[in-house]
Amino acid sequence: MARIELKTREQMRVMAQAGVIVERALAAAKAACVPGASTSAADAEAARVIAEAGATSNFLGYHGFPATICISVNEEVVHGIPGDRVLTDGDVVSIDCGAVVDGWHGDSAISFIVGEPVSDADAKLVTVTERSLWAGIAALAGASRIGEVGAAVEDVAEAAGLHPLDGYVGHGIGTAMHMEPDVPNYRTRGRSPHVQHGMCLAIEPMLVIGTSESAVLADEWTVVSLDGSRAAHWEHSVAVHEDGIWVLTASDGGASRLVPLGITPVAP
Ligand code: MG
Ligand code: MG
Repeated sequence: MARIELKTREQMRVMAQAGVIVERALAAAKAACVPGASTSAADAEAARVIAEAGATSNFLGYHGFPATICISVNEEVVHGIPGDRVLTDGDVVSIDCGAVVDGWHGDSAISFIVGEPVSDADAKLVTVTERSLWAGIAALAGASRIGEVGAAVEDVAEAAGLHPLDGYVGHGIGTAMHMEPDVPNYRTRGRSPHVQHGMCLAIEPMLVIGTSESAVLADEWTVVSLDGSRAAHWEHSVAVHEDGIWVLTASDGGASRLVPLGITPVAP
């Protein structure tokens, strides 16, 4: 396995700058997702926020990806491409976005439902996926191995009758968006790497209502659930340092969600 990049606290603080720009870009993109709007309108909003902040997009041009966000609707799980698709009431939308400041990367994703009515099943899907993310982040705070994150995510998902998507995982992040180690959203065979101070990890549960199997569409990007059931995706980039953890892609370091779970984030 490749060496895991460990960051200084100063480097983590730059990553937090990128992270809060991503937070703002996601909020602007979400605000554009009203019934009747195209998915490309959300992309334009995210691009505007990142440019105005003086940052750059790490999605645009990534292996040829043509946009600033991934936007995935209903049975699309991740990696959907913005375009002419018009959003309608009740769509489940996941937006994934990243930004780079001085060579340091941030990566985060949110899911939500457009307009109304909102079905109970979709509301539960979005809420449980977000809750599984925070359970994974809270687990990281006390973990000795990376695998404890996935176990926590899987437990929240399965207790609610939902399933982590097979084969798609979180990742280390720093001087590149995707780095070692893998951060699975489920238990895996074998020992996972030890958690070390200086690690920054993108934790990103993708949960589905039905089968955990998926397929990639002819556009070679969009990942859909194999049975067409709906999916949600939440992600944060998280730093681990000597004094605790800090959610780099949340302006409060994750305090609003972690303190109720018994974890107080500590700024790097
Ligand atoms: Mg992402
Ligand atoms: Mg990611």
